[in-house]
Amino acid sequence: MGVKSITESIRSVGVWVGLPIHVWIVAEQDGVTLVDTGMSFMTKGILKAIEGMNAGPLKQILLTHGHSDHVGGLQNILRVHDVPVYMHAAEIPYAEGEIAYPGKDKAHVHVEKGILRPLPLVQGKSKELAVHGSLTPYWTPGHSPGHVVYFHQGENVLLAGDLFNGKRGKLIQPRFTPDPEMAMRSAFDIVRELDPERIEVCHGSTVYRPVGQLEDMEADIRRARELEAKLKARKDAKAKAR
Ligand SMILES: [Zn+2]
Ligand SMILES: [Zn+2]
Repeated sequence: MGVKSITESIRSVGVWVGLPIHVWIVAEQDGVTLVDTGMSFMTKGILKAIEGMNAGPLKQILLTHGHSDHVGGLQNILRVHDVPVYMHAAEIPYAEGEIAYPGKDKAHVHVEKGILRPLPLVQGKSKELAVHGSLTPYWTPGHSPGHVVYFHQGENVLLAGDLFNGKRGKLIQPRFTPDPEMAMRSAFDIVRELDPERIEVCHGSTVYRPVGQLEDMEADIRRARELEAKLKARKDAKAKAR
C-alpha cells in the first residue's frame, strides 16, 4: 500500500489490483476527513496512514458513490472509528440495495441501512451541497446516479472519485459507466467551472490542469462515436443486402 502526499493537507492511500484504487485523507482543523474507503483489505493501511498524518482523529467519512471499490472498507473502519458517513441522497437507495444500480439486473447491499447520511444541502437550495470543512461537494451524476466530487478550494485540488479514470497522466472516460453521455457532461462542466490545479481520480494518477485535456478528450470521444456510427451503418447495409 502506498501513501503519497498530494498537498500540504491531503494524502492519498493507494493499492494496485490490476488497476489502481485510491482513497484520500484530508487534514482539517479539528481532525481528519476520509474520502472513500477503498476495498476491505485496505483498511489497515488507511488507518495507519490516518495515524501517520498526525492531524488528529478521524472525524467523518465522505463518499463519492456507493460502488463496492469505494465503500468496501467502510464497515471495518467504522468498527474502529464510529464517525458520521455522508453520501449524496440520490445514491443512498442504490448503495443500500433498495434499487438496482442502472445497468445492473439486481440490487445489492453495499452498505447496511442506517449508516449513510445524506450530504446536507445549502439552506434554501434544492441541489447545491453544503461545504464540509475544507471540502465542497458537487453532484456529478452519470457514472452513478448520486456520484459526487469534492473540491478542496484552499489547495485547488479536485478529489474526483470515478468522474474520470486515468491512464499514464491522461484522463479517460470512466469504466463501468451506464450513462457515459451524462457522466461526460457532468465531468466537463465541473472541471471547466472549477478549473482545479490538479485532479485526483480513484483509478489513476494525478493529472495537472485537467481543463487543458478536455478538448483532446472531446475529440477522442467524437471520433469513437463517428467510428461506431460508421460500423453500424455498414452492418445495417449488409443486413439489408442479404
Ligand atoms: Zn464507480
Ligand atoms: Zn471505482
